Amino acid sequence: MAFPSDFLWSSAVTDSPLPTFKPYTRQSIAQARQWQFMSPELQEAVQVVARVLPFRTNEYVMDQLIDWSNIPDDPIYRLVFPHRDMLQPQEYARLRELVLFKKDEAAINRLVHAIRMRMNPHPAGQMTHNVPRVNDAPLRGLQHKYKETVLFFPSAGQTCHAYCTFCFRWPQFVGMDDMKFDARETSELVAYLASQPQVTDVLITGGDPMVMNTRSLAVFLESLLVPELAHIQNIRIGTKAVAYWPQRFVSDRDADDLMRLFEKVVAAGKNLAIMGHYSHAVELRNETAQKAVKRIVSTGATLRMQGPLIRHINDNPASWAELWTTGVRLGAIPYYMFVERDTGPSEYFALPLARAHDIFQAAFQMVSGLSRTVRGPSMSAFPGKIVIDGVVTINGEKLFALQFLQARNPDWVRKPFFAKYDDKATWMDHLVPAFGKSKFFFESEDDRAAPPPAPAGKVIPITSTRRTDAGRCSQ
Ligand code: SF4
Repeated sequence: MAFPSDFLWSSAVTDSPLPTFKPYTRQSIAQARQWQFMSPELQEAVQVVARVLPFRTNEYVMDQLIDWSNIPDDPIYRLVFPHRDMLQPQEYARLRELVLFKKDEAAINRLVHAIRMRMNPHPAGQMTHNVPRVNDAPLRGLQHKYKETVLFFPSAGQTCHAYCTFCFRWPQFVGMDDMKFDARETSELVAYLASQPQVTDVLITGGDPMVMNTRSLAVFLESLLVPELAHIQNIRIGTKAVAYWPQRFVSDRDADDLMRLFEKVVAAGKNLAIMGHYSHAVELRNETAQKAVKRIVSTGATLRMQGPLIRHINDNPASWAELWTTGVRLGAIPYYMFVERDTGPSEYFALPLARAHDIFQAAFQMVSGLSRTVRGPSMSAFPGKIVIDGVVTINGEKLFALQFLQARNPDWVRKPFFAKYDDKATWMDHLVPAFGKSKFFFESEDDRAAPPPAPAGKVIPITSTRRTDAGRCSQ
C-alpha cells in the first residue's frame, strides 16, 4: 500500500488549522482522501458490513487519530471502521453477494434484519426495565435504575460525532426506532425528579448529548437548576466528543458559550461531571484534545475518564496507563475500565474476564497513586456494576473475587463474593458460583430488590439478574 510522503503518522500528532466538522458515512466515505489508501478488501468490508452496523466517522478522526500506515490494525481504525470479521463468514458471504452483485434491496433488507436480530440488539431489556412510570404511563426518555440516579436521553443527543463499531446502542443508530429512547420536553423530567427527593444524580446521555448545540443543551441543564430540584447535587454528561470532536469544547462557534454554561451550572452549586469516553491513549495525544480537557476543568466541572476494554483496540496495558497518566496531568480523573458487553459483533471484540483482569492489573501497576482512582474491570450487569477484584485460591480452588460497586439493592454493594475461575468466560452470565453453591447471593435476593418508587403507578418489576444493562459512553 503506497502513501504520499506528507500523509504519514506524523500528521496525527500535530494539530492542523482548525477544521470544521465533516462527517463521513457509508454513502460518502469514498470522498475521503484516505479512501484510496484502503485495499479493495477493506473498502468492500465497509460497504457490506455497514449495511448491518452503523458507520460514521469524521475528518478529525481520519486525519488526526488513525495511523493509515498501520491499517487495518490501527486501534482507531478498528474502533470506527467496519471489518468483515464482525459478521459470521456465511453472513458476510451472502450479504456481499447481494450488495455487490445482485443489488436486490428487498433481499438485502431482509438479511440485514435477520443478522441484526441475531446480534442481541437489546441486551438489557432497556425498554422494559428501569423505565419510570407515572399513572401507569412510561416516562419516555428516562431510566431510573439506581435509587439515587436518573438517566435522561434527550432526543437531540442520540447520535455521535463518530460511531464505535462495538457500541451496544447500535440499534438506535440504524433506525430500529422501537429501541430508541426519546425525550423532547424537559417538563416530564423536572416533574419526575421533583417527586423523587432521594435522587441526587442526573446523567444526561445518548448517543452523545454534546452533539447538541449549546443553546439546546442549556434548555436541559438550566431546567435542573430550579429551586424545586435542590436535591439534585450532581449533573453528569456522558460524551465521547472529548475524543471524537474535542473542538466542541475548544473552537466550535459556540464553544465559549458552552464553557459559560458549564460555569453557570457550577455557580448554581451543582457538581457538573463530564463523563469522558476514551478508548485509547492516542485520543489524548492531540493538542486540541488536551486543550479540551483543560478548558472543561477550568470551568469548575470535573472530567472523568472511562471506556470499555475492547479486543483489537485497547487490550494493551501501556495504552491505558498512558491515557490515565496524561489525563491526570491535564486535570481529569481516571474512573472506569468497563468489560465489553454481549451485543453487536461481541465475538469480535470480547476478551475473557481473566485477560481483562490481567490488563487492568498491569496498567494499574504502571501508574502513580493519582491515577489509581480508576476501577475495573467492571461489568454493567443487570443487578449492578460488578468489578473483578482479583484471582485468588481458597482451599485449593482457583476463584474470581468479585464485588458490586453499584447495585439495585444498596445492601449488595462492597460485599465480596466468589466465582469459579474460568479462563474463557467473557461475561457475568458465564460465571458459576464458588464453593458448590447453586446461586450467587444476589440471585436469591433478586426478588427482594427494591426498585425506585414512582410517585404513582408502578415501576416495571425486575425479572432477571442475568441480563446486561446501562449505557456505553456512560455505563
Ligand atoms: S460508544 Fe458512545 S460514542 Fe461510541 S457510538 Fe456508542 S454512544 Fe456513540
